[in-house]
Amino acid sequence: MSIALHGMGVSRGIAIGSVHVIQKDQHDIREYKIKETEVDTEVKRLESAITCASEQLRAIRKHIPRATETDIAAFIDTHLLMLEDSALTHEPARLIREFKYNAEWALKQQRDALVSVFEEMNDPYLRTRQDDVDYVVNRIQRFLTDRSPMLHEETNSRKQLSGHIVLANDLTPADTVLMQHNGISGFLTEYGGPTSHTAILARSLGIPAIVGVQQALRYVNEDDHVILDGTHGVLIVDPDKRTLNQYEKLQRKERRYYSDLKKLKGKPAISLDETVIELQANIELPADFDTVKEVGANGVGLYRTEFLYMNRDEPPDEEEHYDTYTKVIDVLDGLPLTIRTLDLGADKQVDGGRKSGPIAANPALGLRAVRLCLKEPSLFRPQIRAILRASVHGPLRVMIPMLSNLHEMNQVLQIVEETKSELAEKGIPFDHDIQFGGMIEVPAAAVCAEIFARHLDFLSIGTNDLIQYTMAIDRVNDEVNYLYDPLHPAVLKLIHGTIKAGEKAGIPVALCGEMAGESQYTGLLLGLGLREFSVHPSVLLEIKQIITQSHIEELSRLAKKALSAENSIEVAEILSALQSTRAS
Ligand code: PEP
Ligand code: MG
Repeated sequence: MSIALHGMGVSRGIAIGSVHVIQKDQHDIREYKIKETEVDTEVKRLESAITCASEQLRAIRKHIPRATETDIAAFIDTHLLMLEDSALTHEPARLIREFKYNAEWALKQQRDALVSVFEEMNDPYLRTRQDDVDYVVNRIQRFLTDRSPMLHEETNSRKQLSGHIVLANDLTPADTVLMQHNGISGFLTEYGGPTSHTAILARSLGIPAIVGVQQALRYVNEDDHVILDGTHGVLIVDPDKRTLNQYEKLQRKERRYYSDLKKLKGKPAISLDETVIELQANIELPADFDTVKEVGANGVGLYRTEFLYMNRDEPPDEEEHYDTYTKVIDVLDGLPLTIRTLDLGADKQVDGGRKSGPIAANPALGLRAVRLCLKEPSLFRPQIRAILRASVHGPLRVMIPMLSNLHEMNQVLQIVEETKSELAEKGIPFDHDIQFGGMIEVPAAAVCAEIFARHLDFLSIGTNDLIQYTMAIDRVNDEVNYLYDPLHPAVLKLIHGTIKAGEKAGIPVALCGEMAGESQYTGLLLGLGLREFSVHPSVLLEIKQIITQSHIEELSRLAKKALSAENSIEVAEILSALQSTRAS
């Protein structure tokens, strides 16, 4: 009999195929007692499993594909550190010696003890760290029990995995990256939230995915035939023929839709009433550079340079910055490039940035982005020098993240002036009129957008952070994720106010957060007056299509209504009326 399970669809698309279960949880660990004479061998068995787990993680870290957008290496480093921690290495060995436990059971006892300490903590961030304990313990257990290997161990059995839908208790970003290499067609997990790195990765790899399907491992087994609908967050197990036919049809329709979008590549983004919209791309890694032209973007509206600092021990020097920027400029071949200065800190803690100091209790509210740059100019100045030097090679502008007051902006501009003087003294050329813009992602900056607009050449709204800080929620914490609401009237007012501030000062305002690339918000943003979008290249054509079907005057009327709505449900209703007009 067919059953349907529900979760959160985090990466759209339909996958149909048989299931491969790659992770089992802790529950089937058996206890048995060993003899006194076996103690040393058992401890060695544990140590060797820990060594294998470390080697395996190091190997994964080395082979993270270059096109990977998020900081997977930092996750892996955390797990490697845990594998070296005595809580996970010495304590289970002690339990083996003292209680003659088998290694698996000793490890499980220690895991349970650690998790119970985390569970008692009041800090939700620390409480979620128990996932890391589980992840590392599972990895060691796999070597001890010789059970079903994890995804990366299966790279040799590509054929076996190809076309399968992976079911796991939870997946790490490292496992997710390897999915594409194994030809996996979709995945679902019991845990996880829509803004987890794993979910973001699934979207950029184009694999349909659902997370948070509770008890999936209880109801779904190896080789079960399933339909995974990543758009609606539904998994249908053992579908009947009629359902299967329906979904196969839907799958063909979706594929046709995305292939049809390619026709829009060379077409301009102009609304029905002939308003020209600037449609640019967000990029992170050199592997993304080519995609900008592939989708016909007008340029790069957000180049996240902090990814230059990841997977390494030392920060990049001026020459490396310069080489990278000139390479992007070369690839863009005349298209404008917006370089965002480094935004390290918060969830992007890396060795290549700043080595010292413990991670703050609230890293998202801590030393991050421009704050870190001003505190540690030795990190910032080489980047500014390199950007200025690169500015003679093509159209280039600079964007400062996380501005919260004018003083920060002035300090940055002071550093820029000093760097310009140094370069001029040495006769090194740079663009004397290079433009400087600021990201509006702190509510204080949005409220005072008029002030920033008077002093800067352009603004760009970073809704990922603006929503996080407006709603007072950590954007990576799935327990409060339900509050991450782009349609909250406060968020809309801040976006609208920033756009108006730009208009008043006569400077352009872009929006480069994820909201710009989510098609359900395009009409609303156009109605609010947004004329520049910067989005992930994979969604650019879809956004262009909506723009070409939009009537801005009509959208402005709807946006006005949305701005006076009392809550996001009302706004959503206004939007759904808008979508049905477009569909008809
Ligand atoms: C944002 O905050 O919306 C943004 C684009 O920056 P990031 O996601 O890199 O913080
Ligand atoms: Mg941001």
